[in-house]
Amino acid sequence: VDVAMTAEKVERRLIAVASGKGGVGKSTLSTNLAIAMQRLGRKVGMVDADIYGPSQPRLLHCEGKRPEAEGKQLIPVPNDYDVPVLSMGHLAKPGQAIAWRGPMAGKALEQLIDAHWGDVEELIVDMPPGTGDVQLSMMQNHKPVGAVIVSTPQDLALMDATRAVDLFNQAKIPIIGMVENMAGYQCPHCGEVSDPFGAGGAEAAAKTMGMPFLGRIPLDIEIRKSSDGGTPPACTDDVHGQAFRDVAKKLAT
Ligand code: ADP
Repeated sequence: VDVAMTAEKVERRLIAVASGKGGVGKSTLSTNLAIAMQRLGRKVGMVDADIYGPSQPRLLHCEGKRPEAEGKQLIPVPNDYDVPVLSMGHLAKPGQAIAWRGPMAGKALEQLIDAHWGDVEELIVDMPPGTGDVQLSMMQNHKPVGAVIVSTPQDLALMDATRAVDLFNQAKIPIIGMVENMAGYQCPHCGEVSDPFGAGGAEAAAKTMGMPFLGRIPLDIEIRKSSDGGTPPACTDDVHGQAFRDVAKKLAT
């Protein structure tokens, strides 16, 4: 028997999706990248490492389901997108605050990552915002193959993104590149494009920091609505779906 072929021997690539602060669209990007990569033919799983603020159960439309276990290992929760997922949101009660210190949160994350991922080839890790304990232990223990940094074009968000980049540099995790989210808002009434968070900042910052710029996702109410409604843009062939697929293509190598 060729043991190398058994599911547990699959070399799994972890790709961290990170931002310096919350609210910039890190979870939305994680979900859509995972779905886009799945649609490109990869076997993708999702680890929601945002222990204190999990949102993947909602975004991947499998809220309220509990993971089963095999021995001590959790079995990821299936969903309509064929992106099995594990999240604290599946283990905590709805609305329950996770009031844990770093080591406990770190242990919980271990459980989510060392799960029964079967033939999953790529694990997208939706990182917690910022640069704390959980991020560090995740990077040290699991050595992601690379990190995607999300930022809005705004100065403040970019300063935070720079800190996130520094954390990965310190842990010697390569940065795959930067994605600019919430860029350019097209008014649904008159069609005029405005830039609530500035324009082009993330691309310029990526250049300054010497990292690839992976793409730009516009600020569009449809992205929020479709994500909340359980049909993330990456499921569709429309222009936003294409934008996420273009980024995903750069990761699926
Ligand atoms: P984070 O994970 O960085 O905290 P989220 O992915 O949860 O951010 O996004 C925060 C909010 O912004 C969510 O309501 C989400 O639907 C919305 N959002 C994210 N990206 C976009 C976008 N490009 N256009 C419109 N709304 C967006």
